[in-house]
Amino acid sequence: MNSTTQPTEANQILDVLVVGAGISGLTIAHELIAKKYRVLVAEAQDRVGGAIISAKNDEGYQWEEGPNSFQPAPELLRLAVQVGLKDELVLADGKLPRFVFLDGKLNAIPMTPQGAIATKILNWGSKIRLALGALGFARPAMAGEESVEQFFSRLLGKQAVSNLVAPFISGVYAGDPKRLSAKAAFSKIARLESYGGLIAGAILSSKERKAQKLNDPNLPKVKTGELGSFRQGIKMLPEAIATNLRAQGTGVKQQWTLRSLEKQGEIYISKFDTPMGEEIITSRSVVLTTPAYVTAKLLADLLPAASRALNEIFYPTVACVVLAYPKHEFMYDMKGFGNLIPRTQGVRTLGTIWSSSLFAGRAPAGWQLLLNFIGGTLDPALAELSELEMIEAVHQDLKKTILRPDTKVEPKAIAVHVWDKAIPQYEIGHLERLAIVETELQKSQGLYISANFIGGVALGDCIKRGLQEAIKIDKFLNNISKKSFSFPEVPHSTHE
Ligand SMILES: Cc1cc2nc3c(=O)[nH]c(=O)nc-3n(C[C@H](O)[C@H](O)[C@H](O)COP(=O)(O)OP(=O)(O)OC[C@H]3O[C@@H](n4cnc5c(N)ncnc54)[C@H](O)[C@@H]3O)c2cc1C
Repeated sequence: MNSTTQPTEANQILDVLVVGAGISGLTIAHELIAKKYRVLVAEAQDRVGGAIISAKNDEGYQWEEGPNSFQPAPELLRLAVQVGLKDELVLADGKLPRFVFLDGKLNAIPMTPQGAIATKILNWGSKIRLALGALGFARPAMAGEESVEQFFSRLLGKQAVSNLVAPFISGVYAGDPKRLSAKAAFSKIARLESYGGLIAGAILSSKERKAQKLNDPNLPKVKTGELGSFRQGIKMLPEAIATNLRAQGTGVKQQWTLRSLEKQGEIYISKFDTPMGEEIITSRSVVLTTPAYVTAKLLADLLPAASRALNEIFYPTVACVVLAYPKHEFMYDMKGFGNLIPRTQGVRTLGTIWSSSLFAGRAPAGWQLLLNFIGGTLDPALAELSELEMIEAVHQDLKKTILRPDTKVEPKAIAVHVWDKAIPQYEIGHLERLAIVETELQKSQGLYISANFIGGVALGDCIKRGLQEAIKIDKFLNNISKKSFSFPEVPHSTHE
């Protein structure tokens, strides 16, 4: 398909090419087709959803191999309602305790000030330190960018960091608190300090949030602390968005891998590898929602400085090991969200989500389904293990943490998913890298980047960021449609 022809505006040049059908790309496409733009979504894999993988088997297990639940932010709920998933939403009880494994047993993470006073996770010195820090009595920041470890040690003390913050970092980023940037990875929390301590900040910012909250009667009601999923798993969301896009005539191409991107005049020429051979798409704008290391390659010629900055974003390997055990094999009643494990406890597994305790229908009666995370920045050797070795490592860890230590039962191995490059790390220098990318993008009008390495990794953050990007793209397209538009010589485009 390399013939050079003169395309006509009506049937050849798209308004927007969205590269990647993860939640970021699908959100943007969904938003832009509502504004009647001609959009095409192109995805390298043979499915939509990107990091979202929900699965089930005929033994009655249903599990997640990527995100396992989400904060039901209004933007996410609105999107779900728009694509017909209002009645499919399921919510996990916000009061379910979360645990930290310390000194051989599980300790509930305090969720209230009274809980923080009573907790055994911290000694009295640390509690006083934490209370003072939370009220704003903390050493001022040193010069230079603070790591997550430095920031929280300054505010909350070293024990709170090792027993609470670091395990939480493992749970969200599978990262290293010494390498992660406080202002990039925890921008909202770091900003709270500027209000005069975390407590004052939290009170003020919750007032702000309430003021901003849109009162939409169409959205499902959600109680504080509840976490969401969908009846058949989180993949229902990307699949419903894609179905809706297709129903409205928007192509969502699978097994289309973007190989190169160039600009001729005001038009982007994108070349894809597809099962049918090369396909070429011409468009007025392109939004890349691909991981940073892919985006870096795609921009190597067009925006080399942006490409170099993106290449510096590190993604560790993480494995999701999904196991099931008979309920009577546990030392605890398993009423909870799951447990995190500080690196100081001699346990390799980062944390375990008690999946079947969160949502109904995830395991047959009498069985407990567990989603275990192992690997991350601090455990690069994980990549050397076979899947069987990963299962064995997690099983031995579970015998130390929540299973009866003398259990003779072998795990029922449901799935192992090794994410070679799991979650982008917002490390020291991240915001500077993103600033370079942003400046570079100004040189290539019509080119956008929206992905989980900007503005937060959580699903709700990706959706928020996607909506903001859609507004920018809408403005751009509106502006150029007001200008006269001349067609350059471009290769034949083959999209429908
Ligand atoms: C193990 C794990 C657990 C997580 N747990 C949670 C959780 O519990 N809650 C939560 O809120 N978040 C969680 N997250 C984070 C969240 O799932 C992700 O940040 C989010 O799904 C990323 O969406 P995205 O669209 O930005 O990127 P992706 O989902 O990565 O989508 C990018 C898409 O681009 C495609 N692509 C790549 N290269 C090309 C190319 N050349 N051409 C075309 N397409 C291409 C990819 O195939 C992919 O589909 C988790 C992530 C992981 C990995």
